[in-house]
Amino acid sequence: MMARVVIVGVVGALERLTYAVPAALTKQLAPGHRVLVPLRSRRVTAIVTEVGDSLDSGGVVPRAIIELLEPRPLFDSTHLQLIEFLASYYMVSIGDAFRSVLPSLARVESRRMFRVARVPSLLAKVAFTELEREIVEALTRRPMTLRQLQRLGQSSEVKAAIGRLVADSWITSRDATRGRHRAQTPGSGTSMADQTGPPEPPASSPGEAVHELAGTSNLELSSEQAAAIAAVTPAIRRRQFEPFLLWGVTASGKSEVYSRLAAEALSAERQALVLVPEIALADQLVGSFQQRFGSLVGVAHSGQTVGERWASWMAALNGQARIMIGPRSAIFAPINDLGLIVVDEEHDSAYKQEEGIRYNSRDLAVVLARLASCPVVLGSATPSAESYANTRRSRYQMLQLTRRVQQRAFARVDIIDLRQHRAATGETPAVAPLVEKRKPARHEIFKSGSRVPPTNAQLSCGEVGTTNTAVERIGSGHLGDELPLSPPLIEALRENFAAAGQTLVFLNRRGYHNFLQCHFCGSVITCRSCSVSMTFHLRGRMLRCHYCGASEPAPGKCFECGAFGLEGQGYGTERLVQALARLFPSARIERMDSDTSGRRGARSAIMRGVRSGDIDILVGTQMITKGFDFHNVTLVAVVLADLSLNMPDFRSAERTFQLLTQAAGRAGRGERPGRVLIQTYAPHHYSIRAARDQDYARFIRREMELRRELMYPPFARMALVRIEGEEPTYVNDCASKIADLLANRAKPESTRVLGPAPAPIERIRQRYRWQVLVKSRDRHELRSAFAAVASYRARDGVRVSIDIDPVSML
Ligand SMILES: [Zn+2]
Ligand SMILES: [Zn+2]
Repeated sequence: MMARVVIVGVVGALERLTYAVPAALTKQLAPGHRVLVPLRSRRVTAIVTEVGDSLDSGGVVPRAIIELLEPRPLFDSTHLQLIEFLASYYMVSIGDAFRSVLPSLARVESRRMFRVARVPSLLAKVAFTELEREIVEALTRRPMTLRQLQRLGQSSEVKAAIGRLVADSWITSRDATRGRHRAQTPGSGTSMADQTGPPEPPASSPGEAVHELAGTSNLELSSEQAAAIAAVTPAIRRRQFEPFLLWGVTASGKSEVYSRLAAEALSAERQALVLVPEIALADQLVGSFQQRFGSLVGVAHSGQTVGERWASWMAALNGQARIMIGPRSAIFAPINDLGLIVVDEEHDSAYKQEEGIRYNSRDLAVVLARLASCPVVLGSATPSAESYANTRRSRYQMLQLTRRVQQRAFARVDIIDLRQHRAATGETPAVAPLVEKRKPARHEIFKSGSRVPPTNAQLSCGEVGTTNTAVERIGSGHLGDELPLSPPLIEALRENFAAAGQTLVFLNRRGYHNFLQCHFCGSVITCRSCSVSMTFHLRGRMLRCHYCGASEPAPGKCFECGAFGLEGQGYGTERLVQALARLFPSARIERMDSDTSGRRGARSAIMRGVRSGDIDILVGTQMITKGFDFHNVTLVAVVLADLSLNMPDFRSAERTFQLLTQAAGRAGRGERPGRVLIQTYAPHHYSIRAARDQDYARFIRREMELRRELMYPPFARMALVRIEGEEPTYVNDCASKIADLLANRAKPESTRVLGPAPAPIERIRQRYRWQVLVKSRDRHELRSAFAAVASYRARDGVRVSIDIDPVSML
């Protein structure tokens, strides 16, 4: 008997190979098994994709499989097909597909390691050649592979020297295996589940445990929630593929629908998969599942160690984790009997993987549900245009939750036109480079400020320095002309604070100053490796690039003209907190963005603070628009709605609408009504007006019209080729060739090739970036055009990558 396998873990190897199945394994071996096979002189991990007597081994006598690594196949036929789909749809090799799907621990590999057998005396060393001495010294420090040793000299000479040293027993070699060699015994691999409470009885009788737990919810369902559950349940029971779009306004109780449906899947003795955009931001959803289902819930997340990730896979595989909650990569978790897939916040761009294989988990979830014959529920308050279109084309069934739970009212949303308020106070908009600075009108801050008026000392602190050295103009804490809070917004903050309500202030820019600009020559400090300006962070007085992560101390002098003319411009969350603290000295103000929540536990500490009422004002980036469910938040302030609107991306209006709707949805979730204020320079934009009226239907109609006119998804397929390299002329040249290649294959009636053009961010990490964008009404034509790109060999140092259905256009 023979087995066809896909080799993982060896780049550049032949990917599908045939091996002989040893007699001891013939009864057991099945597709999806993880095995160890010989490849040249090494042992490597492979996944069995086919087993049979008549497999073609290409005329050579096949070698035998060495070992079976788990008793159960790691992939069932459903997941094997999903990975085949992944490879073919996103145009990558099958080996790459398996490699990116498997946790790294699952990749067992052997390497020949050399080490010192006995330490040579000084006398012995004299007899060594120079190269031999270097090899022995290197190996005294640590064992090395042949490849590592070959850096010491010319390849054949190194090999010869190693041969002599081995023959004289100075050094030895042996095969070292790394990776998780054997499956853990059931029970030891459930560390994820263990965190959630006392362990449940093992999975031998999941049914019973589930029946008990499933009944523990006593929340009253609304008629809409009940109708949604009733629509999906038959598909779970009948093991039938059916896609649903659950469009539920904010606070309409989508999570309760998910968890009741999961209980249905469990009582049908099947498993459930719940995908969330970011597990760190889904603590409330995860918490409610854990409360209800206890240790039947497995949680996967990117912060797990390789061991934890493997353990959560094993818990899914052996059926202990009946419900798996995780981010996009959890789509590949080995759940063998799927009864339900939920994709929460399906519109979220975090479902798109932006490195390696650029897959979209939301889309793969629908493919997986079809393969597994189960329903899939895509939930959102602001469904993506793609999913909405699928309901219009009757591919998905639409389920609606139009009312908030317990008849709670929507928050009142008002737009503040920043153009008017700027004009009224004579201030200049933050977007225009400042030539001249004007002192803030102090009486205004007093008038509309806090209950406790700020002292003169507080107000003037920092301003003293504005006329002195430039350094003091950066991060000095003076409010400056461009305070991004209009008088009506400050008034609303003051009222809400006085009424003991909590406020969320949303500003999608972290750091202190957005950039530093020289007021003599006008130049802006940009990253050395990327074509973007660097952000000033007050903590440590550092400049940071938000694209490559580079950081450096803020300079004293302008790089261009050498003068002390640098000034900080614009507000990030860090500076906004400082400005608010000046306006409301007695308020307790916290900040939440990726700079603050990096510290472990910081996010949950802030969440506790908001829940217990210890925080009056929380300033944050879009993190605070997601999954926050706090009952005492009565005001949400959006500092600048235009930030997402002005991105060079055809989805910018959709993103803006989504962000504003999500932000607005945080207000008024308790008994007290909520209020939302949106500041913008574009008060008449359809996405902002629709967000004000919380009118998704009106927004999506307008958005669809525009997409149709401009031939954008969902009315066309899109694919993007990115060409990157350090040498700009090579990159440009390569981009032109690829554009020609695509244009030659495309029919102009149905397909448009746009570019080559420099990417919106032309340089990241010292690499120049160009792109070619293709839009097509014909999916097959698009694919065949891209097949040519996939086989195109770029010159050395230029990387060409294909992004099917791109999300990030930058
Ligand atoms: Zn200058
Ligand atoms: Zn950079």
